[in-house]
Amino acid sequence: HAKSVGGNIFAGYHPRMREGLMERLELESDLRGALERGELQLHYQPTVDLVTHEVVGFEALARWPHPTRGMINPLDFIPIAEATGLIVPLGRWVLHEACRQAMEWSNAAGGRPLKMSVNVSVRQFDQADLAETVAAVLAETGMPADCLCLEMTESVLMTDTEANLEQLVRLKALGLTLAIDDFGTGYSSLAYLRRFPVDTLKIDRSFVERLGILADDTALTDTIVRLGKSLGMATVAEGIEEFGQLAALREMGCGFAQGYYFSRPVPASEAGRLFLEGAPV
Ligand code: C2E
Ligand code: MG
Ligand code: MG
Ligand code: MG
Repeated sequence: HAKSVGGNIFAGYHPRMREGLMERLELESDLRGALERGELQLHYQPTVDLVTHEVVGFEALARWPHPTRGMINPLDFIPIAEATGLIVPLGRWVLHEACRQAMEWSNAAGGRPLKMSVNVSVRQFDQADLAETVAAVLAETGMPADCLCLEMTESVLMTDTEANLEQLVRLKALGLTLAIDDFGTGYSSLAYLRRFPVDTLKIDRSFVERLGILADDTALTDTIVRLGKSLGMATVAEGIEEFGQLAALREMGCGFAQGYYFSRPVPASEAGRLFLEGAPV
């Protein structure tokens, strides 16, 4: 893995990165510069309560407006950030900006609580002071811990298991919520759900995509929702694009959803309106 060879960028090959080495090096230095100059942005995608259809919060998603390449997708720069270690300052910035923004909106809405979800890379778990960093950001922004949700993929549970378990326990002790992102696509054993202090399962978009079309995907989604329920965990479905998927998920008793059906990830100004208007989407 990237880390085992000293975190140099050659080890961080990502299939989506078709650029040559020089281009890769250029992107890396561009990303470093963009981060230093504060050019990265966050877009926000609402999380919707499937019973009330109200926006209960947002997921913060990083965006990189590149001066010559246009908007670069996180799937194309997060792997670079992970391979170079830039993910640590980048991740801290995302966390700070998302919490700051959540407080601004919540205050503007008379203190109405807003749940903000932030993606945390498995590489950030290599930092022994991750929980201290999160605690510092909460203190700096005044964000109540129970309004913050950290999303991680199953890889966090599968690699450096003991060390990451300890990290998760310390994060959980701050009072925040922990979610497993893209649930069902990794290879984690269900036993991990018992061992790790996880609150929420985010059902991967690939299952939702063929809901009601493929019987197997429908059965798997239904099973994940039931699993969540029986373990006392919340379930959030990703990638709802059509009414049929929404109806099926509601029928199954899935609590929350995100997807283009409700809203694409949008810039802060637009997301703020969605929250403040408080209208069901
Ligand atoms: P994710 O955390 O699973 O985020 C969901 C992705 O699905 C987002 O892509 C979102 O735009 C997309 N999506 C949401 N609804 C729909 C839908 O209805 N249909 C379709 N086709 N797609 C939908 P995005 O913003 O390109 O982000 C991709 C991934 O990059 C994220 O997946 C996350 O793993 C990573 N990422 C984004 N921001 C950050 C960040 O700040 N830190 C870290 N570590 N990773 C990030
Ligand atoms: Mg996510
Ligand atoms: Mg996801
Ligand atoms: Mg996903």
